[in-house]
Amino acid sequence: MAAVLSSAAGALIEQSRLMSERWHHFYGGYWQRRRRLHLLEHPLCKFCADGGAVTRATVVDHVDPHGGDWNKFVFGKLQSLCAHCHDSIKQRHEKTGVSSIDADGWPLDRK
Ligand SMILES: [Zn+2]
Repeated sequence: MAAVLSSAAGALIEQSRLMSERWHHFYGGYWQRRRRLHLLEHPLCKFCADGGAVTRATVVDHVDPHGGDWNKFVFGKLQSLCAHCHDSIKQRHEKTGVSSIDADGWPLDRK
């Protein structure tokens, strides 16, 4: 039961976030079907998995931000993330171009 509630809460949080964006009209029935299918096929957070953790994903994220471009929105590569990774690591990556740092704090990659 807790998993069902958690899933519903995650979906509501994601829906709220999407509705605040300028291109919120992209996120209608088409996106909801695509999102649901993607989470069925890729149920775990990619970033957590890269770090060796198993976390259920609740957010379907465009690997490269679509920026309101319909073609990028429809044909862009997707990844499953947990809300924590999407709201912290992914947002930092989009703002700074750095997705991860080494033990000394130096970026491991740059855009
Ligand atoms: Zn994660």
